[in-house]
Amino acid sequence: MAYRCTRCKKTVEVDYEYSGIRCPYCGHRILMKERPTTVKRMKAV
Ligand SMILES: [Zn+2]
Repeated sequence: MAYRCTRCKKTVEVDYEYSGIRCPYCGHRILMKERPTTVKRMKAV
């Protein structure tokens, strides 16, 4: 799961969720869940 730090705007990869998530770059504790940039693929018929 990718999170984005609301302070330094860096993407932080966290593969588990718990209450103690912190940005490893600046130590900020508020991270926003980043939306996956995967494009929805539609089957062309
Ligand atoms: Zn940060």
